[in-house]
Amino acid sequence: MPGSVPRIVMKFGGTSVGDIERIKAVAERVKKQKDAGCDVLVVVSAMAGETNKLVGYCDALSDLHDAREYDSIVATGEQVTSGLLAIALQKLGVSARSWAGWQVPIRTDSAHGKASLDTIDGAHLLGCMAEGVVPVVAGFQGVGPDGRVTTLGRGGSDTSAVALAAAIKADRCDIYTDVDGIYTTDPRIVSKARKLEKITYEEMLELASVGAKVLQTRSVGLAMRQGVRVQVLSSFVDGPALVEGKLPGSLVVDEDEIVEKKLVTGIAYSRDEAKLSVRRIPDRPGIAAAIFGPLSEANVNVDMIVQSTGADGTTNMTFTTSKTDLPRAISTLESVRDAVQYEELVTDDDVVKISVVGTGMRSHAGVASTMFRTLSERSINIQVISTSEIKVSVLVAAEYAELAVRALHTAYGLDNV
Ligand code: ADP
Ligand code: ASP
Ligand code: MG
Repeated sequence: MPGSVPRIVMKFGGTSVGDIERIKAVAERVKKQKDAGCDVLVVVSAMAGETNKLVGYCDALSDLHDAREYDSIVATGEQVTSGLLAIALQKLGVSARSWAGWQVPIRTDSAHGKASLDTIDGAHLLGCMAEGVVPVVAGFQGVGPDGRVTTLGRGGSDTSAVALAAAIKADRCDIYTDVDGIYTTDPRIVSKARKLEKITYEEMLELASVGAKVLQTRSVGLAMRQGVRVQVLSSFVDGPALVEGKLPGSLVVDEDEIVEKKLVTGIAYSRDEAKLSVRRIPDRPGIAAAIFGPLSEANVNVDMIVQSTGADGTTNMTFTTSKTDLPRAISTLESVRDAVQYEELVTDDDVVKISVVGTGMRSHAGVASTMFRTLSERSINIQVISTSEIKVSVLVAAEYAELAVRALHTAYGLDNV
C-alpha cells in the first residue's frame, strides 16, 4: 500500500525532452514535484525524432535486419535522455540516477521490436527512493529471457511508465506530453476538439487501438488491469501536477467515476491502413479459411473484413491490414493464388480509417447511421465498415481524413463552442 508520502511516476515524451533546454525544464518540474512532498520516479522517451533516426539507420542497412540488433540500436535514444536528465537533476541539487531497462530489470519476452512485459522487480528502485534518490528510468526498453535488450513497440515508454507505476504501487502515473490532456479528437487536426477531464479505460483503450497515439494501446490495457490511475498533461505549461484537488490534465478512470455519460466520447483516425481486395473467387465453403489462415500464419494482422457475392457465383473478399504488413500480405496471397483460384488482387494504401468510440453505444442506437449520413452529406464514399460494442469504424480515401473527422466531430455534438 502507498504510504503517507504520495508516490508519483512522471513520464516525459519525446518533445518534452527534445533538447537540453527542455531537459532542464523537465528537471525543474521533477524537483517541484519532489519539493511538494512526493516520492518521484521518472521515465523518459528519447529526444523527439531520435528513434525515427535510429530506425532509419537500420532500414538503410537492410530491409530484413536482425531484430535483436535493431533493439540494441533503437533503445539507445532513451539511454541518452535518462542520463542527461539525471545530470540536470543533480545540477539542481536533487539526488538522481539513471537506469537502463536491463538494470532495473524490466523483464520481457523475446519478441524483439514489440516485446511484452513480463515482470518488474520494483524493490531496488523503492529502496533508492526511500533514500531520497530520484530514479530516471529509460522507457521503451527491457531485457529478454536471454539477457538481450528488447523494445516494447513504438510509443512504448507509456507502457514502461504504467508498468513501473504498478511495480512500485504508485498513487498515479503522470504522462507529460505536448498537449494538455486527452481530447475528443486529435487537437492538432480539429481546433474545436474539447479536452476531457476524465475518460474510461475502455474508451481510451479503444481510441488508442484505432489511432489516438496520445497513449500507447498497451499502456492503457495494462493500467486497466493493474488499476493504475493515469493522467495525461502538458510539460509545456507551468506549474507542477497537483497532488490533491483538481488535476490539470485528463484522467483515465473506471466507468463508475464518470458522471456525464455521452453517446460518443471520441473520434480517432489511422493512416496506417491498407486495403486488399481478392476478386472473383469461385464461391464455396472454406474460402475465408483458405485466405485468412495463411495470412495469420504469416503474422499479418487483418482488421476490417467485408465479403460480397455477385450473381455470377463469384465472391470478392476485401479487408484491411497495416501498411507495414501489406508487402507480406501480398506475397502470401500470391502464394495461395492456385488454391484459392481468385482472378485478381487489388491493393490500395491511400486510405484512412476513421472510428467513433463511446460506451453510450451499448444502450443507444443511431450512432452508425449518424456517421453514414454525415459522410454521405459530404459526398465521402465509405469503402469498408466494421463495428464493435463501443466503436464504429469506416475506411475512406485518405484525402478526406480531416474533412471527415471534423464533420463527425460536429455531428456528434463534440465541438467546443
Ligand atoms: P509523446 O512524444 O509525448 O509520447 P505523442 O506524439 O506520442 O507524444 O502523443 C501526443 C500526440 O497525440 C499529440 O501531439 C496529438 O497530436 C496526438 N493525439 C491524437 N489523438 C489525440 C487525442 N484524442 N487527444 C490528445 N492528443 C491526441
Ligand atoms: N522513443 C520511442 C518511440 O519513439 C518510445 C516512445 O517515445 O514512447 O517510439
Ligand atoms: Mg507517445
